[in-house]
Amino acid sequence: MHDLDEETLDRPHEECGVVGLWAKKGSGVEVARNLFFALYALQHRGQEAAGICTSDGTLVNIHKGLGLVSQVFNEDNLRPLQGHFGIGHNRYSTTGGNHIANVQPFYIQTLHGPVAVAHNGNLTNATVMRDAMMSRGVGFISTSDTEVITQFLARPSMNVRADRPNWEARLAHLGEEAEGAYSLAILTREAIFAMRDPLGLRPMCLGALKGEDGKHTAWIVASESAALLTIGASFIRDLKPGEIIRIDDDGPRTVREPHERAPKPALCIFEYVYFARPDSHIEGQSVHVVRQRLGRRLAQEAPVEADIVIGVPDSSLVAAQAYAHVAGLPYVDGLIKNRYIGRTFIQPSQQMRKNQVRLKFTALRDNLEGKRVILVDDSIVRGTTMGPLVSLVRDGGRAKEVHVRVASPPIQHPCFMGVDLASHDQLIAHRMTVEQIRAHIGADSLAYITRDGLHAAVGEGARPGMGHCDACFSGRYPVDVSAFGLDDGKLQFESRKRGED
Ligand code: SF4
Repeated sequence: MHDLDEETLDRPHEECGVVGLWAKKGSGVEVARNLFFALYALQHRGQEAAGICTSDGTLVNIHKGLGLVSQVFNEDNLRPLQGHFGIGHNRYSTTGGNHIANVQPFYIQTLHGPVAVAHNGNLTNATVMRDAMMSRGVGFISTSDTEVITQFLARPSMNVRADRPNWEARLAHLGEEAEGAYSLAILTREAIFAMRDPLGLRPMCLGALKGEDGKHTAWIVASESAALLTIGASFIRDLKPGEIIRIDDDGPRTVREPHERAPKPALCIFEYVYFARPDSHIEGQSVHVVRQRLGRRLAQEAPVEADIVIGVPDSSLVAAQAYAHVAGLPYVDGLIKNRYIGRTFIQPSQQMRKNQVRLKFTALRDNLEGKRVILVDDSIVRGTTMGPLVSLVRDGGRAKEVHVRVASPPIQHPCFMGVDLASHDQLIAHRMTVEQIRAHIGADSLAYITRDGLHAAVGEGARPGMGHCDACFSGRYPVDVSAFGLDDGKLQFESRKRGED
């Protein structure tokens, strides 16, 4: 399959979306169908594979495959996914590549029934955990860190009582051993569980479906609240960093609170900049509203004489509108995106490959001709897209000047916590100064929001005590990344104590 989105857009890639659903027996809630539409709403978090695993407490049904949710599932393979609870997953592959063996949920039978795991994030000590289990005879069929989690939970020696497993204890033990980012949805015979890592690097929230009598009929956990809205569920709350919840017919209940000496949270700040849907709320904040604040702040920090403001569709448009508002300039459409190019089985011709941005965007000359244009984008990763976009606006749109403004700071460091940002040498801001990047992309001027500006925009509506990871901008990681061997002397592990900024 050929993925034009991936090839034409210089964007960071989220690794996954997860969802879990428990419906009361006899409630009539169609679990697999609801999971399908929740995954559909989370499609932006991973486009390379999808899977759903359901159960009635006795039988487990699973279907997964490579491709978009709409390509993996159809009425025929959804129908056998019976049961009143289940979990689902969208995958963007980095670790282990896009191979069917790495597609989630991971599911194995244990002495105490099935366990299936859907994971968003990346364990930074997966190799250490894998090697330790392999030395005790555990075999692996994939290169995925999610299989490490699954096997860790299945180990027979862990807190097993004679009559039943203690999944809560196993999960708590996982929380002690695993390092890095993990938001998990876990299916067992008796319940589904949801869990966030102690830093809360990746989001996860809880919601509920109500029946006609107003009583709860089902509970759902998902990476983003937009998935809840899509299936008609109401948002209850975010899971706390480090929290484990259990959901069964008695509803959701916390089985492990965050440790009182837990580190200060480090939610990925990029969720607000780019990853999450604008209609999602994360940690009490509307993603759309945060993007407005980013655009306003960018305009205050980096004004320039111009005639109009345009944005790169779709994720940058909110920031572009807010920039225009503060700058007192008209916001207009300047780039039109082909919404259906997404994925196609047809390879572009050699001649088309030379400028793939043109497959994705066209310039609206009626609005651009003769104008001094401010082009707002949310981020620049490798710098491969911005140059062609600037020339599209200048040559295709016949703009007089093109001034690029970016609503996130220069990305100078890789991410080891579940986001595919590219390696150091691929990141343009690691290799070049801002002036060199400006010359490289052919813009008349280039400016990024500052790190202080980013934190001010995100922090303005954040909950007290909330903290954010910004390691890809600052090089200060909330987890120890020395095991990755990529330290160029600029990366630091910053232990996050509560009460610190
Ligand atoms: S390094 Fe960047 S992308 Fe990765 S978790 Fe931190 S803020 Fe998010």
